[in-house]
Amino acid sequence: MATKKEELLREGFFGDYGGRFVPPPLEKPLQELTDAFQRLREQPSFQEELAFHLKHFVGRPNPLYLAERLTDYAGGAKIFLKREDLNHTGSHKINNAMGQALLARELGKKRLIAETGAGQHGVATATVASFFDLECTVFMGAEDVIRQQMNVFRMELLGAEVVSVETGTRTLKDAVDKALETYAGDFENSFYLLGSAVGPHPYPTIVRDFQSIIGREAREQIIEATGKLPDYLVACVGGGSNAIGLFHPFLEDDGVAIIGVEPAGEGLGTNQHAASISRGSPGIIHGFKCYTLQDEKGQPLPVHSIAPGLDYPGVGPEHSYLRDTGRISYESITDREALETFRLLSKEEGIIPALESAHAVAYAIRLAKTLTPEKTIVVNLSGRGDKDVAQVARYEEEGLYK
Ligand SMILES: *Cc1c(COP(=O)(O)O)cnc(C)c1O
Repeated sequence: MATKKEELLREGFFGDYGGRFVPPPLEKPLQELTDAFQRLREQPSFQEELAFHLKHFVGRPNPLYLAERLTDYAGGAKIFLKREDLNHTGSHKINNAMGQALLARELGKKRLIAETGAGQHGVATATVASFFDLECTVFMGAEDVIRQQMNVFRMELLGAEVVSVETGTRTLKDAVDKALETYAGDFENSFYLLGSAVGPHPYPTIVRDFQSIIGREAREQIIEATGKLPDYLVACVGGGSNAIGLFHPFLEDDGVAIIGVEPAGEGLGTNQHAASISRGSPGIIHGFKCYTLQDEKGQPLPVHSIAPGLDYPGVGPEHSYLRDTGRISYESITDREALETFRLLSKEEGIIPALESAHAVAYAIRLAKTLTPEKTIVVNLSGRGDKDVAQVARYEEEGLYK
C-alpha cells in the first residue's frame, strides 16, 4: 500500500519523469505550495483576479498574427505568430510570474525569491513584486551580473535587491543553490518564484497551468481566423514553459502535429549545444527527473546556445514524457539559423524576435516550405528581441556567424 506521501509524489510525475528530489528542509514548503495551489486554482475569485491583471497590466489577449510576408517568403503553409512579444516586459515569462505572485500574496508571503541567469526571469519577477508591493530578492551569479548589467539595473529600478553570488563558477547554478538555501531558511515569509516548467513538484504543473493561457487564446483565435484547428504548433524549448503553454490545450487534438525546437548551438555533433531531449538521457537534476545532458557521473554538462534563455542542461518533465509517448516531436535549430531568422523576421515583418523565439520561427519556415497553402502553422513568438540587439551587433562586428 502506498503511503499518503507516495501517492502525492506520484501525482507530481509525468510517466517516469518529474517528482520531487529535494533535501528534507524543502519538503514542507513544497507540500504547502502543492496544497495551496490545488485549492486556489479551483477558486473562481483567484482565477478572476488573475484574468483581470493579465488583461489590464500584461495586455492580454495578444494577437494571433498571420505573417503574410513570411508566409510568402517560405512559399507554403500559412504561418501565424502568437504574439507573446507584445506582453508587458516583452515575453511570455510575465504570465507565470503574475500567477505565482498572486499565489504568494494569497499565502500571505511578503517576499519573492528568484534566481536568474540572463536576467529575463528576474525582471519579470521584480515587475510583479512591484505590482503586488512584495519585497524581491533576485540571486544572480557574479559573472552574469557583469554580463547583464542592463537587466541588473532594470531589476533595481523596479525595487528588487540583486544579490551577486560569488561562489563556485559564479553563474546560474550557484545562484540557484544560494536562492534555495535562502528560501529554506525563510519559507514562512518568502515565496520561491520559479521561471520555467522545471524543478521539483509542484512547479512544472503550476508553470504549465499559468502559461496555458497562450494555447487557450491561440485555439480560439485560430478557429476564428480559419474556421478550424491548426495543422502544426511550433515553439522553442529551453526549460519548456512557453512551449507547454501553447501545446497543452491541444494535446488531445490528434489532428494537430506538435513540434518543440531545441537549441542546436554550433551543431548537435559538437559539445556546444543545449538539446537536452535530442541528445540527452534520463537523469535527475535540480530536484526532478527529465532528459538531461550529463556526464557519466550524472553531473550536468556545460551547455551553449546563442539564445540566453535556452541554455539549460535539462527540460521540463512533461516534455520528457510527451517525447517518449511520441505525442510531441523535437527538432533543433543552430545558432547560425536562429541569427539568420532574427534578421529575416525583422526585415520581412517588422518584428524583431527574441533569439529564443527565432529558433521556433526558423523551424516553422523550414516546415512551411514542405506544405501546401491550405495548411496552417501556429508559432509561439515567445519574446521580443530588443534585449538581443546589442549582442547581435557585437557578433556581427566581430565577424562571427557571417
Ligand atoms: C526564457 C525564455 C525562453 C525559454 O524558456 P522556456 O521556459 O523554454 O519558455 C524562450 N523565449 C524567451 C523570449 C524567453 O525569455
